[in-house]
Order: sequence, then structure tokens, then C-alpha cells
Amino acid sequence: MNFIFFRPDIPNALENEGVKIALPRYRKILVDGLPAKFLILKTIDTGKLPKKEDEMWRLHKKSMQKFSNALEEIDKKGLRHKDLGFKDNSLLDLKIKLVEKIMERCHLCERRCGVNRFKGEKGECRVGNECLISSIFVHMGEESFISPSLTCFFMGCTFHCQFCQNWSISQWHEDGERIEPDILAKIVDEQALKVRNLNLVGGEPTPSLLFILEALKEMKSNIPIVWNSNMYMSLETMEILNGIVDVYLSDWKYGNDECARRLSKVNNYWEIISRNHDISFKQSELTIRHLVMPNHIECCTKPILEYIAENYGKKVIVNVMDQYRPEYLAHKYIDIARIPNDKEIASAINYAEKLRLNYIT
Ligand code: SF4
Repeated sequence: MNFIFFRPDIPNALENEGVKIALPRYRKILVDGLPAKFLILKTIDTGKLPKKEDEMWRLHKKSMQKFSNALEEIDKKGLRHKDLGFKDNSLLDLKIKLVEKIMERCHLCERRCGVNRFKGEKGECRVGNECLISSIFVHMGEESFISPSLTCFFMGCTFHCQFCQNWSISQWHEDGERIEPDILAKIVDEQALKVRNLNLVGGEPTPSLLFILEALKEMKSNIPIVWNSNMYMSLETMEILNGIVDVYLSDWKYGNDECARRLSKVNNYWEIISRNHDISFKQSELTIRHLVMPNHIECCTKPILEYIAENYGKKVIVNVMDQYRPEYLAHKYIDIARIPNDKEIASAINYAEKLRLNYIT
């Protein structure tokens, strides 16, 4: 790979012991030692697709077993993506059809709006039936082992965070630009050798899942897929993402439902987010971001770090982020209307240390 480095910590980031423990498969994809998962999906022949949705899900379950077997064999033998044979009716095509069904009464996320996205109806995220992005560029400011990252910012979000730093994208204060999935695929293929991954973010990538899968169908490069998300996906979406995502880059904000309801306008936060982290930990490799917010150490930071220590230990990387600043509507909430002070940041880091997490700052 021909990376251009602007940060001294990027070139050797993959040699970090924590990265070796948490992201072993990701590291191998990057040296072209193993294929990204979405390429393996293209090798699983599903035969003719059924019309009925329940039959499609049954076929999906059966085909995912074949995928798991193929993944195990590929990883054991160290096969490369050039060794793979792609099929016309593949598991990726089946996932595309299933996402279309989900969007007919949209439940891509746990808002479960039930709108028909193909009939012009829009739910909470206000994403319709076209691929709208704010930008796509090589990001050098992500974690050292993620950068350089070809980062695609999809319009809209399933949350309404009152302090969102990307509020113009997430809350539609800009219109976004329409891009066809095949053009997106072409951009990725052109840039693939210059970056470490395709980083799907927003706003939130979940409402744009269909366009993402359509782009993956066209893509030929062996590039890891990073799902950079608030993790409020529905269970159905979590099943679709199995075999798509190489690394979940999650954003775990709150340690309880009340803070989530007040500051992001979502319900049932803890149950859904902990469930989806558990699933993603089993499915794939995982890095968890936690943005330290002022006055939220006891109610949010500590419970999240404790859950991670208890359930995943050192097998995930935790990024304890200190860059919160009061943006968007944060001035309306007295608790979050300032940056965190040194004592709060130190307390978060000391707690991660005390719990012996695989953490970075
Ligand atoms: S993705 Fe959007 S429309 Fe679909 S359920 Fe979530 S918020 Fe509602």
C-alpha cells in the first residue's frame, strides 16, 4: 500500500499490541493476506431467490451457515481474494433483496418507523430512497490504526443528539449530494490502495444500508468495511450486517436510558445498544468510542466502561475521547454546555486504567 502519512503515529499503528489483540483479521486484510468479508459473501451461491419474505429469511439463515464455513476455511488456509470465485446469485444479492423488504415498512433501526421508503415516505431519519452523501474523502483524523480512511458521510441520522458535531449532516441543515452506488463503488476502487478501509458514517449509515450494499456489489477491491455507527440498528439489520462489516467502530454515548432520551431523543437505549455491541463482538471485530461529556462521568462513562470490562475485556479497543465541545443545541442543556474539565477527563482515563481495558485516548 502507498500511504501518504501526515501523522507520525499512523505508519506503525498496526504494530500496537492492543490492535494486534483486538483486530487480528483487519490487520491481515490490510496486507492482502485475507479477503474482506463482503467479498466472501459474493462467493456463496443462493440459487434462485424466493419471492416471499419469510422464505428469503430462511434462505438467508441457511446461506449464512455456508458463509461461516467458507470464512473459517478461507481464514484457516489463508486464501486471498484473488483465489475466490464469485457467483451470479450470491448471498450479497439476497441481503439486498431483504433490505428492500425491510424498507417497505422501514425497521432498519429500532425506531421502527414503519414507513414505505419506496413510496416517498420518510421516517425519523428523513432519509428517502436515494443515496445522499455530504462528502467522501480520505480522512487522516480517525484513530491511528483506522487512518487513512476513505470516509463516506451519509446524510441523515436515526438520533437527534442535541450536541451533534456533525449536525448539519445528521439533522439536514444541508441537502446532500445524490450519488449512484456504482459511482461510489468506482471511487472506492480508485482509492483502495491509498487507504486502510472504507469508513461508513454520517449522520448514521443505517438508513442508507441499501445503497451501501448496492455499492459493495459493484466493488472489486479488497478493502475492509468499517461501520461507524450509533449502534441503534434493528435485529434484522444486525443479521444483514453479518458478513458485511469487518470492523464495527461504535459510538457508545450513554450509560442509561434517561440521558439518551433527554440528549438524543431515543428510547430503550441501554438494552438496544448493549445487545448490538454483544452481537457485533461475536460477529466481527470491534472498537468502541466513548465521548466523555461534562457531568456525565458517573451516569454514563463509568457504567459503559464497566460493561466493556465485564463482557469484552481486552478483546476490544476503547477510545476514551476527550474532544467534546458544546455544539448545535448543547447551550440549552446546562449539564453539557461546556467542555469537560481536566478532572473529568482524568477520572474517565483512570477508570479505564483501573478496569484494565485495552484503551486509547
Ligand atoms: S432508518 Fe429511518 S425510517 Fe427507518 S426505522 Fe430508522 S429512523 Fe425510521
